[in-house]
Amino acid sequence: MTIAPASAPLAPEVAVADRTPPSAGRHVLVGLDRRELADLLVELGEPAARARMRAGQLWHWIYHRGASSFDAMTSLAKDLRARLAETCEVGRPDVSRALESFDGTRKWLLKLPDGEEVESVHIPEEDRGTLCVSSQVGCTLTCRFCHTGTQKLVRNLTAPEIVGQVMVARDTLGEWPSPVGDRLLSNIVMMGMGEPLYNFDNVAKALKIVMDGEGIAISKRRITLSTAGVVPMMQRCGEEIGVNLAVSLHAVRDDIRDVIVPLNKKYPLKDLIAACKAYPGATNARRITFEYVMLKGVNDSPADARALVKLIRGIPAKVNLIPFNAWPGAPYECSSDEAIRAFSDIVFNAGYSSPVRQPRGRDIMAACGQLKSDSVRKRKSERQAALSA
Ligand code: SAH
Repeated sequence: MTIAPASAPLAPEVAVADRTPPSAGRHVLVGLDRRELADLLVELGEPAARARMRAGQLWHWIYHRGASSFDAMTSLAKDLRARLAETCEVGRPDVSRALESFDGTRKWLLKLPDGEEVESVHIPEEDRGTLCVSSQVGCTLTCRFCHTGTQKLVRNLTAPEIVGQVMVARDTLGEWPSPVGDRLLSNIVMMGMGEPLYNFDNVAKALKIVMDGEGIAISKRRITLSTAGVVPMMQRCGEEIGVNLAVSLHAVRDDIRDVIVPLNKKYPLKDLIAACKAYPGATNARRITFEYVMLKGVNDSPADARALVKLIRGIPAKVNLIPFNAWPGAPYECSSDEAIRAFSDIVFNAGYSSPVRQPRGRDIMAACGQLKSDSVRKRKSERQAALSA
């Protein structure tokens, strides 16, 4: 396991093309499902009998070809393109900042129409490329070790804002039309800012758009949704979205989990484990991932590892150990390499895969639990600079 030094060189800021801000009152098409697109076309005067077929064509241009202007949509009649251009925009979030880490990880800071900001991260690996997508601006969960949790929830993201993160990544990576074979963006993890199961409807709608085989076409097998354990929504997540599930377990005893993941007071381990056992579609081929942050002296003993194995017995599971990513003022330290290795060995010897998640993009504050801090800190320093001026 290698950990990027805290003093890693600052990543260069990548130039971002200016975008025209959305004009008020225009319909944004990214984030609409097929039916909404068809309804909109009828509103724009397209005969109802043709609307579904036209919506399919629009869908192809937006989500398969990645067209960002109506001029490019040459299979649509000229007058329809003109009507669309007058009243709609395809729609992308504004990229206010894009950073690239020395390890190839990219982070986008996206500016939303109301001025709020959200981050997404692309992590290239040898056999895949994973986009880490946010579901909320900030987070309400206040997990003690998570920097995002120190910022107040501002709001849920809309479906267009969630799909927009994927569109921006695809634009930057140059992956239009949706490639059939190898992809730079092959996988999605709902592991950015926020708790996705507290924003279920928008997340479900967005992921269904992303999974549609005639558009972005990332299959449910390549999408993982991570929850801190919103037990009442887990069943619906499996049934209605059908993606892989990751659970931020982080502790095997209620007294410890109550402190580090306060949601545990509402949904304790017994209920969480029961919901995992009942998760639709979990099989040995599609295991539930238990995420476990390694906090020195808190949850990282061999006894904890043995208790973990006992707790998840009977669940098709794998365990993902996450070295704690420190942030200024954090009340914890990362476990030693030896403690992490010993913990991983115990879990592995009990028959569970137990990889240690490599921290990626720490130099651009893009690693787990570090999101948003960057933008908030920047805003704060801008405010301070303005004050002293
Ligand atoms: N709210 C969801 C999505 C966040 S996913 C959830 O809790 O699952 C991000 C993962 O990184 C979670 O497992 C989270 O607990 C973990 N994490 C948060 N802060 C971290 C930190 N500072 N170091 C390592 N992992 C962290």
